[in-house]
Amino acid sequence: MKLPNQFIESIPFSSELKKKLLSGLEQKPAYSVRLNPFKPSRRFKDEDSVPWSKNGKYLTERPEFISDPLFHSGVYYSQEASSMFLGQILNSTDLSNKIVLDLCAAPGGKSTLINSFLPKDALLVANEVIKSRSWILKENMDKWGSSNVIVTNNDPSEFEHFLGFFDAVVVDAPCSGEGMFRKDKKAIEEWSVKNVDLCCTRQKRILSDIIPTIKDGGILIYSTCTFNDKENRENLKWIQDNYEVENLNFEYPVNEGIIELQEGDLKGFQFLPGVTKGEGFFISAMRLFGGREKIKIPKRIRKLRLEEWDGDSLVFLENDNKNYIINEMIHNFPEAFESVLKSIVWDLKPIKIGCQVGQSIKGKMKYSHELALSNELKKESFDFVEVSREEAILFLQKKELVGLPKITSWGLIMYENQPLGWVKRVGNRLNNYYPKEYRIRKEFS
Ligand code: SAM
Repeated sequence: MKLPNQFIESIPFSSELKKKLLSGLEQKPAYSVRLNPFKPSRRFKDEDSVPWSKNGKYLTERPEFISDPLFHSGVYYSQEASSMFLGQILNSTDLSNKIVLDLCAAPGGKSTLINSFLPKDALLVANEVIKSRSWILKENMDKWGSSNVIVTNNDPSEFEHFLGFFDAVVVDAPCSGEGMFRKDKKAIEEWSVKNVDLCCTRQKRILSDIIPTIKDGGILIYSTCTFNDKENRENLKWIQDNYEVENLNFEYPVNEGIIELQEGDLKGFQFLPGVTKGEGFFISAMRLFGGREKIKIPKRIRKLRLEEWDGDSLVFLENDNKNYIINEMIHNFPEAFESVLKSIVWDLKPIKIGCQVGQSIKGKMKYSHELALSNELKKESFDFVEVSREEAILFLQKKELVGLPKITSWGLIMYENQPLGWVKRVGNRLNNYYPKEYRIRKEFS
């Protein structure tokens, strides 16, 4: 692998670490997945665990995820191991009742991880500024299946009305991607000193836009998948020069090659291929003081009335959420966060609100795909049928399934006890309701 000379010169570690890193970058990436704790399954149960992630598993080779129905049902997420370290931080943090913003969230690796650590009485707002990427984020959050989630598609500057609003903000910043060099050759082609400078200017802009939304005593987690000082340590220094912060302490496994970097009062944690089993990653967690007290929600927003569905979701969902009708669709969402929902509907662009149940048309329900994938779904409330792997693939390709007489109306197609989506019996036909934008386009021989 030909690496840019200027990159090699800029590596800010001891010569011993630098040597290990350069040889690590020549090796094959370590493949890993993270299991969904809300959708227990036997998949990957015998694989080695990632030492700093209780749901993380190393794989000996990269499977073809697209041909595994359990991948589509949200049983696991393909994520490189180092970035799972965020879980180690969240594990030592009380998230009960908290509102967490994941600001740069697509495709959803950190958001699905954060959600796994969130108690049901907490809320995740997962945001992505690039529209096309925000739909991928939504798809992954749909698969993860939790209802205490809102996905938004906004620029960090558009959170200006949310002063002191969040208990914790994760900024997994867009970066020069040096840590992804061995997984993504394009990252090598795109690397330049100029791009590193551009990234660190953008990171400061993102941080200065979003830090005011953290409440006094709240948490900021900053991460990148790069090695250079400009985007990592210098940004930690910049944060300390401009805000009152203190290091957030948490435990983590030593002897795994995780490098602790001290920058002023803050600690950063660096993962290096060739030293730790994973890709390049940097993360730092801090508590922010002197931040804004949570603003009072303005009257115009408090007065906003959200329509409620008069049906009973307890019949098919195992939670006591409320069901709001927004843009004609029913959204099952925790009532405790109703005022947050109102603020977000008013000021931001939400593209997923809790679990979208469906639409009631003249008293008849048309169910949404999100409901089929909900980890709170009472499957027994519907006709359901367990299918073979071949049939599951046909379903995911949005082809017609034949037979399956057990399904008499709306029914769930299940693979290894996990719902994949809806079908509906109309006369002799079984209509396939798998969303066409998610369908597997590949043909398997
Ligand atoms: N957190 C994600 C995960 O774990 O799957 C990866 C995030 S990636 C490192 C950075 C994200 O920031 C990208 O999705 C990118 O589209 C987004 N982004 C790019 N420019 C941005 C900006 N100016 N403000 C906020 N986010 C930005």
